[in-house]
Amino acid sequence: MPIPNIIAIDGPAASGKSTLGRRLADSLGYLFFDTGVMYRAVTWGALQRGLEINDEAAVTNLAETARIDIRPPTREDGRACDVLLDGVDITWETRRSDVEANVSPVSAYRGVRQALAAQQRRIGLRGRVIMVGRDIGTVVLPEADLKIYLDASAEERARRRYQEILQRGGQADYGQVLDGVRKRDEIDSTRAVSPLRPAGDAVILDSEKLNADEVFTKVEALCR
Ligand code: C5P
Repeated sequence: MPIPNIIAIDGPAASGKSTLGRRLADSLGYLFFDTGVMYRAVTWGALQRGLEINDEAAVTNLAETARIDIRPPTREDGRACDVLLDGVDITWETRRSDVEANVSPVSAYRGVRQALAAQQRRIGLRGRVIMVGRDIGTVVLPEADLKIYLDASAEERARRRYQEILQRGGQADYGQVLDGVRKRDEIDSTRAVSPLRPAGDAVILDSEKLNADEVFTKVEALCR
């Protein structure tokens, strides 16, 4: 069996998608593309410009007109890629808590999704790609050769996100992180457009019971 050309990894916040995707991309020599950063970039841009997050027309217009570039990392500060909005490096800005609190409502807008998914699909169809998100296997690249859906309890995912923030030297309150994860889960999985759900032909892995090495080993075996 040939190695899958297009690999989709979906799942809720902090389920280990990016860790798995990065390792797999390194191992196969594929492009790693984390689509969440595009939704984060639009959200950051909207906050920066003082737009009302519930002004769907204004936020959609921003998604349609802003130039979002994602390129290999130019700095060794733990980033997986550089994220640029209209030429400005906003990589770490996209991880801010105000972005995190507003990204799910922004991602629920149909026009925002249409604008970003079209760009994601164009890049994904080039192949040799690991694309990570919420709707990659269902909407963006339904023809993906391998679809993985990673899941874990909200408590476990919040614990990981909390540790990540502390490791980066930030401050956080576990209860607040858990609350944020639950809110994003709720909005991402109940929105009308492209809700978070596993594709019918996805391999579902529970990352609560498997550590990052075990998840990687399982998925690599599926690829080779
Ligand atoms: O994966 P990450 O946590 O960075 O994604 C941030 C947010 O972007 C998610 O909570 C979700 O609302 C949105 N998103 C999405 N579709 C994707 C990727 C991310 O709606 N393909």
